This record gives sequence, C-alpha cells and structure tokens, in this order.
Amino acid sequence: MRAYINAKIWKSEDTAFLVDGNTIVQTGKDQEIEEAAGKGEIIDLNGMFVTPGFTDSHMHLASLGSLLDSLRLDAITDYEGLKKAVQKYAASLENGQWVIGRGYHESRFTDGMVLNRQILDEICSSHPVMLKRTCGHVAVINSKAIEEAGIDENTEIEGGRIRLEEGILEENAIDYVSEKLPVPSEKEMIHAVEKGAAYCNAHGITAVGSDDLLSLSSDYRDMLNVLEKLSYQDRLTVRINEQCRFGDPKQFASFLDDGYTMDVGNEFFKIGPLKIITDGSLGGRTAAMRMPYTDEPENKGVMTMDEEEIETFVQLAHRFNMPVIAHAIGDEAVEVMLDIFKENTYEGNPLHDGLVHCQIMSKAQMRRIIAMNLACYIQPQFIDADAEILESRVGKSRAKASYPFKSLYEGTLTSGGSDAPVEMCDPLAGIQFAVTRKSVSFDAEMNQEECMDVDQAIALFCEKGYETMFMNDEYGKIAPGYKADFTVIDQDIREMKPEEISKAKIMMTVSDGRTVFER
Ligand SMILES: [Zn+2]
Repeated sequence: MRAYINAKIWKSEDTAFLVDGNTIVQTGKDQEIEEAAGKGEIIDLNGMFVTPGFTDSHMHLASLGSLLDSLRLDAITDYEGLKKAVQKYAASLENGQWVIGRGYHESRFTDGMVLNRQILDEICSSHPVMLKRTCGHVAVINSKAIEEAGIDENTEIEGGRIRLEEGILEENAIDYVSEKLPVPSEKEMIHAVEKGAAYCNAHGITAVGSDDLLSLSSDYRDMLNVLEKLSYQDRLTVRINEQCRFGDPKQFASFLDDGYTMDVGNEFFKIGPLKIITDGSLGGRTAAMRMPYTDEPENKGVMTMDEEEIETFVQLAHRFNMPVIAHAIGDEAVEVMLDIFKENTYEGNPLHDGLVHCQIMSKAQMRRIIAMNLACYIQPQFIDADAEILESRVGKSRAKASYPFKSLYEGTLTSGGSDAPVEMCDPLAGIQFAVTRKSVSFDAEMNQEECMDVDQAIALFCEKGYETMFMNDEYGKIAPGYKADFTVIDQDIREMKPEEISKAKIMMTVSDGRTVFER
C-alpha cells in the first residue's frame, strides 16, 4: 500500500489517494488515507497538482526513440550550422554508412538557405545523406544517396514525387529510399522503443496511440514482434495502443489472417485502429487541397492513396471490427475520407473511426465530422510552426476555418497528441497551444475563437485520450478502481498564465503503480 497525500487532484475535492499494487483503491482527505495506509509508505506531494497519466493520442514511439539517437536538425538555423552538424555526425559513422537526419524547418533558416542536393554534396559527398523535414513528408538527399538508391529520371513512384535535380523526395518517395537502407537489428529496435518510452514518461505520458509497424522496418512483423516481446517481458513503461499501418491491403489481410485485430494484446500493448495516410503535410505543401495553394497556384498537393485502395482498407478493417483512422491534413483529403466514411461507418460510429490531424477544412466539413461523430486526433503543438505559414499557404478565409479545435472538442470525441517525432511529445506544451493558439517561435497566432479553456485542454491529454482508445473504464480518473497511472506536476496549471503552462515541471510519472519518472 502506498498513500499519496497533500495533493491537488484535478476534478476532485479529495487531497489524497491510496494505491494498492497497480490500482487506486481509495480517495479522501489526508488523514483518512494515511490511516488507511496502515504500515504502508506515505508520499507527501506538498500541494502539487495531480492529473490522470497523460496520453498522446497519435505519435510514432519507435521513430521518436530512434530520432533521439540520430542526427537532429531542429535547432539548425543556417548553412554553417548544418555543415557542422552533418560533418560531425558523418565522422562518427563507418565508411559508406548513411547519414540520416531529421527535423529541419525552412522557416527557421535565418540565412535564406534553400536546402537541396547541391548543398548536401558540398557538405558531404563521401556518405549517402538523407535529411527529413520536420513533418517527415519531405526529404532532401545528396548525389551519393541518389546513386545508392538507384534513382534516375525514369524512377516513378506511386503516391510520391522525386525532384531529381534538387534532390527532393516527397511522400512515398521517402519510403522508397528508406527501404534501401539496412534494417535495424532487433536490439536496435528494442532500444528505440525503450528510449521513446522513457522520453514519454519524462513528459508525464503513460499511454500513447502509436503508429510503429512500418517505422523502422518495411516488414511489419519485425516491429510487431519487438512490441509484443517487450510487453510480455513487462519492459514497457507506457501503454501502447498500436495504430497499425500497412504498405497495402494484402499485408493487412495477412495480419488479420494471423488472428490480429482490435484489442488483441495485453494491458501494455494492444492492437488499436488501422491507420492509413491519405495525403502529405501543410509545411511541405503536399497536403491534398480542393483549391491550389495560395502561394503556389499550380500545386494542389498529393493524395498518397487512391480512393479504391482506401475503401478496400476500410471495408477489410470493418469486417474485423477494427476502426480506421486516416491521416488527413488538406481539405481534399478530408472530403475524400468523409465520403468514404459516410458509406462505410456504422451508425453513431461505435468503432471510433476517425481523422488524424484535422487541419485544413471548411466549416461545412467540420459540421459533417461532428454529425458523423468521428474521432478527431489533433496536435495543438503544430500551432507553433503552422501559425506562421497558414495564411500564406491557404489564404485568409481557408485559414479562419482551419484547426477548429474547440469546435471539434465540443462537438465530437477529440483527443490530443504530438505526432512525435514531428513535434517532440509534451502534453504541457500541447495544453498551452490549445489554450493560447499563439506561436512561441514566431510572432503569429491562429483564429482566437477556437481557443480551448484549460480544463478542456487537460482533458484532451488524458480523459479524451483514454476514451478514444476505449480505455476509459480503467484509466483516466484518480478514483477507486482505476489503474494507478498518474502524473504529478509542480504547480496547478489552471492557475498559471496560459502562455507559461509549458514551463510547469513534471515531477513524477507513475505507470501501473510504478514510479517510472521522478525529478
Ligand atoms: Zn503521424
């Protein structure tokens, strides 16, 4: 038995709770809980703020972990910085090994650098180099990488684009090149997952909806085996609801044939929805739009899957009672998915079919999403970088109706995430951006009518996450009978200035009754 006393508990008048093993068994006032603990341990939380364990409803846990070990480009602001970083990283590799970097963002370049093949050749010609943009939907490669990947002007890629002269890869072209890379060993994959999980714990997260199956190996079984193994060996410190993605419906069918479907698994690793990706990103101008980009009038982005294939996926999933969640950022992708869901989603949406990202859309589309009760997976941290580019990409009127987070939250089942490693997962930052809709990196903001209040934003990152993952019977409340998954924060974020919420500190993260992070 362990008593946590002197706490300020979100949505509760109580100040203390008692944990037996992995379960909260009693809540009440300090003295009463102390007495109930008997000879058990008493932990005084000194008035700190306790919430249910934070959730991140859409991320890529294994990619997050592997990014933490790879070349990170999020702090690069100019040519010199890039040169130094790439050369230093290349020097740590064996001859001929690939330099893989991630996280660059043109809007952070202060010297106007246009990142392309020529620049990378100048910086590093001895190793193949591939650098991915922060969104992961666009990458730039050098000549050596083009040679190694066997790409030439005749290479055609479905659902992707190669701009050979500039060395730019878009969408499926990145997977095409990634498949030429050596597959990481099981040990490396395990390391990536554990590293990602530890990063989550340090940010107060105890459960994630995560898309991993194709992230480090093109054979989904490799990662599936790793995740199952880690869960059986009791080595996971975040609960993973796997958002299962496949290269084609055939792969998905063989997965189903093997007996996998929604809910198969255990308390730490469970099969969740089928995840599909239908378009690209706003930053990379690859999100599929009904009308062209305002700042690139020839371009309407790309649909990365044709409608027939999407329907095949959806129907196959539903036959096995698996929900479908679709990455849809542009309003054309949203429209296509709304039409497909209209034909295929069960009345009232009991399976929680949904849309991941929910960025560019019209008011009419938003109303359709709400009317169909679709699950929305939003990423408030995207506001930081996107507030700056939104209007120039899509114009004033499309911008105004976009990222309608409060309306979605109040209208339908909506949960928050980071899409890590696109943004590094940080629910406190997510809460701040949901409340302020103001960038901190740029002098920019989004439509202030869609600002959420703090309690709504906290719910996005716990209650709503658990509800989305069908876990809310046992998780998401500090109450008797609920699992001891909770997060301790140094102060009550409801009383902070909204612009400062991300500065609050996670002091302790408890998963399944075990302290998995402590400051
Ligand atoms: Zn994602």
